Order: sequence, then structure tokens, then C-alpha cells
Amino acid sequence: MREIISAPGWSACSLPPNIEHMSDLPPAERLAKLRTLEVWLGWQLRDTQRKIEQAEQQTRAAGGYITEQERRAGQAVGVTIHAADCPKISQPVATLDATKAQYALIKDPGFHHPCQHCRPDKTLGIPKD
Ligand SMILES: [Zn+2]
Repeated sequence: MREIISAPGWSACSLPPNIEHMSDLPPAERLAKLRTLEVWLGWQLRDTQRKIEQAEQQTRAAGGYITEQERRAGQAVGVTIHAADCPKISQPVATLDATKAQYALIKDPGFHHPCQHCRPDKTLGIPKD
């Protein structure tokens, strides 16, 4: 089933009907269709980026704490816990309330680490070892 796609100024009708058959088209027609597709995909990317930014702002405005995976050579090696408004968050995974953030930092300090920029451990009153 063909998915109905809508974007300002675009409709599903302006997209190539069978993208897998575009190589059968004359080069000029193929180029025109690929340009149309390029513009539409650019719009999709910008729209998705805008939605991500809105979701991040909503998450930060809600307060609390944000987790972010720590990776080395593609392997998960731990979790960094940030204050929700920390500017160092690049790939938020989940939100935690203060109780859960405090629990994670105290219960498993070998895996859950406080961000060294926003220092949620200080905010949460966790004493240093
Ligand atoms: Zn942080």
C-alpha cells in the first residue's frame, strides 16, 4: 500500500510513482524526478530535526535528569546522568526523576556516572567517596 505523504507545497502525486523504475527513464526525466525527491527528502530531514529539537526542549523544560549512553568502540560502557538543562547532552535516552537519578548514581556508580559539566551528583546531595 502506498503511504500518503504530505508536506507544504508537495503531494504524493509529485513524487516518482515507482522509484525502483527510475533508471528506466530518460536521463533528463530521471534527473528532474531525483531533484524533486532530493527537495522532498531535504524537507523531511529539516522537519524531523525541528521535531527532535522541540522534543528536546520539552524534555528539558520538564526538568529532572536525562540519561545518555557512554560508548567506546561501539560498545555500551555506561550511562551518564545529566541535569535536564545540561548543554552537553547530545543523544538523550530517557528521563529520570530526582529519586531515580539519585538511586542510579548511588546504587551503581561503576555504570552510572554524573556528567562532569552539570554535576547532578552535587544537586542530588550525593557525597563523594
Ligand atoms: Zn551534563
